[in-house]
Amino acid sequence: MARYTDSVCRLCRREGTKLFLKGTRCLTDKCAIDRRSYPPGQHGQARPRISEYRMQLREKQKLKRIYGLMERQFRNYFIKAESKTGVTGEILLQFLERRLDNVVYRMGFASSRKQARQLVGHKHLLVNGKSVDIPSFLVKEGDEVEVKVKSRTLPAVVSAIEVIEAIGIPAWIELDKASFKGKVKSLPTKEDISLPVNEQLVVELYSR
Ligand code: SF4
Repeated sequence: MARYTDSVCRLCRREGTKLFLKGTRCLTDKCAIDRRSYPPGQHGQARPRISEYRMQLREKQKLKRIYGLMERQFRNYFIKAESKTGVTGEILLQFLERRLDNVVYRMGFASSRKQARQLVGHKHLLVNGKSVDIPSFLVKEGDEVEVKVKSRTLPAVVSAIEVIEAIGIPAWIELDKASFKGKVKSLPTKEDISLPVNEQLVVELYSR
């Protein structure tokens, strides 16, 4: 599967906001956005023309990059969201947020979604007591996600869970830090998903 391999900090600089793609480094003064808060590249400091299309595109790219998805996967979530009854933008956010790699990150078992995806792919997680190695697995209300006993001493897990309180646990998730277990209390609402993205512009882009 195709994946992005260039510097992820360039993505934050392109979007002009912190996307928190590099774990704990994002919380330090080494963050590239704090050092160079203009887009990368030769024309990074030029003033671009702000068109409606450009704003919609940037919001889509931002959301896609936050969750580490490629265009086709992202668009498939939009198609699924559009086919459901309700506000498409909010359903889209909910689908993205329910991905297992995101939930593992939100529970504090990994310091970034990328790291969470690796943990899932390498079978370090259980969902309702069963091993799941599919990062796109969608959790449901009441699901329990747990780090396998033998994986609880992994340095990546230990350092991530140490700082989860500082980052904040979303209201829709319950965490039992001592037993490396979390529960999906309810499905996330738009208010629970506080991201610097206007999802309505993403819907407008795909509805063109
Ligand atoms: Fe983005 Fe984190 Fe890099 Fe800062 S350190 S630019 S938040 S990925």
